[in-house]
Amino acid sequence: MKNSSQDPDFGATGQFELTGVYFVDKKADAAFATTLGMDRIKTLLLLGAGHAHLQVLAQLAANRRSDLDVTLITPWSYLTYSGMTPGFVAGHYPLEDCQIDLQPLLREAGARWISARCSGLDANTQSVMLDYGGSSPGVDLLQTGATTSRPAMMTYDFLSIDTGSVMEKRKLDQSIPGASEHAILVRPIEQFVNRWSQVLNRAKAKPGNTLRITVVGGGASGIELLMAMQQGLQTAGVTAQLRLVAGGPALAPNYPKGVQQRLAAQLRKRQIEVDMGTCTRVTADAVELDGGRTLPSDVTVIATGSAAPDWLNHSGLAQDENGYALVNAHLQSTTHKNVFAAGDVATRFDRRHARNGVYADRAGPDLALNLLATLTDQPLNAHMPSDRSLNLISCGTGHAIANWGALSAEGAWAWRWKDKIDREFMARFRRN
Ligand SMILES: Cc1cc2nc3c(=O)[nH]c(=O)nc-3n(C[C@H](O)[C@H](O)[C@H](O)COP(=O)(O)OP(=O)(O)OC[C@H]3O[C@@H](n4cnc5c(N)ncnc54)[C@H](O)[C@@H]3O)c2cc1C
Repeated sequence: MKNSSQDPDFGATGQFELTGVYFVDKKADAAFATTLGMDRIKTLLLLGAGHAHLQVLAQLAANRRSDLDVTLITPWSYLTYSGMTPGFVAGHYPLEDCQIDLQPLLREAGARWISARCSGLDANTQSVMLDYGGSSPGVDLLQTGATTSRPAMMTYDFLSIDTGSVMEKRKLDQSIPGASEHAILVRPIEQFVNRWSQVLNRAKAKPGNTLRITVVGGGASGIELLMAMQQGLQTAGVTAQLRLVAGGPALAPNYPKGVQQRLAAQLRKRQIEVDMGTCTRVTADAVELDGGRTLPSDVTVIATGSAAPDWLNHSGLAQDENGYALVNAHLQSTTHKNVFAAGDVATRFDRRHARNGVYADRAGPDLALNLLATLTDQPLNAHMPSDRSLNLISCGTGHAIANWGALSAEGAWAWRWKDKIDREFMARFRRN
């Protein structure tokens, strides 16, 4: 997969200079836009290339509109699919198989891409602040010659947010000092997969050393990654000692008892040590736990829960008690009718459900329909998320645990099922 710092595309529609970016004096803007016949063109900003926005791009491609100017703001030129990330770590898939190139989807949709992060939003003035990130991979446009086209701020008529949940370094360092300096964070996944590849390559270059790996965070994704790491390291011929610091009181607390027991049994079977303590600090070669214990750790991975992005806090948008964007059944902000949100970043005020890729993906078609409907003042669709989702947790060895509501089962068949679902997801959006 290409490194996105090489291929930002500011000119997909050739209309960049006509967006709200440069229109600072609103009266003059309006007059200028009318002269050009541009006053009927509406600006749609898509924040984040999450699961739901892939479908929005696909729908926009099927319904190209000359009166709509679409920009996707997201740091990377591809989406790394989290569902297949443990499979990449386990060595089941090469990284390219887990990534969706956004460029063909953008071209089909007639949308442009800005390689940046949203760092602030003011829903009242309909403006988004952009951060180009300097040293982050994929967000530094300095080499591209596009620096003069890097707006610090963009305005919009309609906004759709699908930026997922995040691990904010500032917050993380408050709860686990040293984490952002010494540990590998699971999010953003694009950075995680690169860091993991470096760990593996370094370990392969020093055969004979036993690598001590600690995963902090006892949720299903942390456990899934840990089992994948063991498999990947074994396949690469690296001797490793793996440990989970679960932060108690239960493994995979969001899952029913049956799944928790199955996960515990799989960890035991793989001789992965489980410590129910809470990590209080990470250093270069250890993790410190509550009660004053220190455990040696060469590689520490933080897989503690993700959170809502800080930039939503001063946006003026309604938020839930945890800071996520509060939306109604139309996936529309409960306070701002021209703002929509879906996936992990959003909470339905009327119908709470888990945050996972299944829900984010399923919200996509209704999000797309509602964005198009709102442009033309058509009635909006109510999105009806299912009460439960099928969860398939891979164990690294071609074995997976399946969960539906309170039910669970496991076997190689569950892994094949997961593999099939994941490959079908990728096939929907891959163009090469
Ligand atoms: C290791 C792991 C394995 C998982 N496995 C599964 C699984 O098997 N099944 C499942 O259902 N769920 C799984 N999940 C959960 C799943 O990843 C998330 O629930 C899902 O990705 C949420 O999708 P989303 O569309 O909300 O956002 P995401 O998929 O997180 O996408 C967010 C997008 O927004 C971009 N972005 C982020 N911040 C900004 C910003 N400030 N400005 C602009 N763009 C931004 C990101 O780069 C990304 O493109 C897993 C999670 C992890 C960590």
